[in-house]
Amino acid sequence: MASARSGPVLIAGAGIGGLTAAACLLQAGIDVEVYEQAPVLSEVGAGIQISANAGRVYRHLGLMDAVRAAGAEPALYRFRMFDTGEVLQTIPLGSGYEARHGVPYVTIHRADLHALLVERVRALKPDAIRLGVGVSGYATNGREAELLTSRGPVRGAAVIGADGIRSVIRAQMLGDTLAEYTGDCVWRAMVQTPDLPPEHQSNCVDIWVGPHRHAVTYPLRGGALTNFVGCVEYDGVPEDGWTIARPWAEMQADFAGWHPMIGALIHHAARDACYRWSLRIRPPVQSWTDGRVTLLGDAAHPTLPYMAQGAAMAVEDAVILARCLASTDVARALSAYQHARLARTTRIVTESTANRALFHQPDRDRLQAAFAARDMNAERSAWLFSYDPVTEGIQTG
Ligand SMILES: Cc1cc2nc3c(=O)[nH]c(=O)nc-3n(C[C@H](O)[C@H](O)[C@H](O)COP(=O)(O)OP(=O)(O)OC[C@H]3O[C@@H](n4cnc5c(N)ncnc54)[C@H](O)[C@@H]3O)c2cc1C
Repeated sequence: MASARSGPVLIAGAGIGGLTAAACLLQAGIDVEVYEQAPVLSEVGAGIQISANAGRVYRHLGLMDAVRAAGAEPALYRFRMFDTGEVLQTIPLGSGYEARHGVPYVTIHRADLHALLVERVRALKPDAIRLGVGVSGYATNGREAELLTSRGPVRGAAVIGADGIRSVIRAQMLGDTLAEYTGDCVWRAMVQTPDLPPEHQSNCVDIWVGPHRHAVTYPLRGGALTNFVGCVEYDGVPEDGWTIARPWAEMQADFAGWHPMIGALIHHAARDACYRWSLRIRPPVQSWTDGRVTLLGDAAHPTLPYMAQGAAMAVEDAVILARCLASTDVARALSAYQHARLARTTRIVTESTANRALFHQPDRDRLQAAFAARDMNAERSAWLFSYDPVTEGIQTG
């Protein structure tokens, strides 16, 4: 195993991807150190959907009961017309989904998921996470890897860049500059569900599709909260962080004339807690590994969130990488990991981008026609939800 040879695996970034990788590696008996630039561990106030392909990783880590207890289990996933609410397609969730896929579909507050992962990592190694340590680059040779941090260089068996869409590990490896603006911005807000009129309280994941924009709504914390995300096409927008508040009236104007449930959600959103930021992306690459250094999550394959799979890909990456490192030497393991992940992550990124056009058709007729031609349940069940990264075959030989 990697730890037995030349020190710990060094992980840059304690987001969902970095922490899941740390937990999977520690559980496999491989030592890790996680370096996070933030002085305090935290996550933004937003929801995250956990589909079965990611849920299997949390089950593998012994976290599924806690994830369920902290989250909500919506009954149905619906694609709906932006103004009338007409249901265009459904994906059954709830007990039928769990019976089919072996794990439930859970929606959870990001902070709750992050806290569970921190707890799991610390239970396996109390001092694994080093806070307030910025990473600036790496070095690698045949015998070891080095992570360059604000506290000086650290040596280990391998480096994993799990430092998100602005990854400095990726910038050094691939020479990238800032990821490209996609033309879409995202609003996020959260509402206390009991504040909503009963007819607008829902136990579904709803994707509201409309001309040049769409919205996503779903329950969190057992239904106590309702999450709102609004994705809008804009020509050039400066915001570049998840925590930049914008005037509530701008969010309301962006969804004027939409279904009364969207109107009610926006009406009840806290006026000083409506956040908007630009979505950025990079085209998929064919390699994200350099010697004993590799990338994971948004650092490796940033995506539009239009299949709700960014974090899911990061946790799939995490368990596959841990399985590879547990079964062979570092060079072979990183190569096997990348080989196992390239086609699937490229497909998810590509299909997520294609969903922008599907969701943002310019009028009602084209929206109806586009959805009539699809069977989202069959499509996603066949390859997306059915993937099991805990048992998927890997070639390390
Ligand atoms: C609107 C929206 C909705 C989404 N919904 C879903 C969903 O429902 N389901 C889903 O699966 N995905 C979803 N995603 C995608 C998901 O949020 C991301 O793909 C996921 O957070 C990526 O995790 P990560 O660990 O790779 O990166 P990040 O979460 O960005 O974590 C990176 C970490 O690295 C740290 N870091 C960065 N630079 C440095 C440095 N130089 N030194 C040290 N530390 C550093 C950061 O502080 C951070 O803690 C959504 C995204 C958006 C925008």
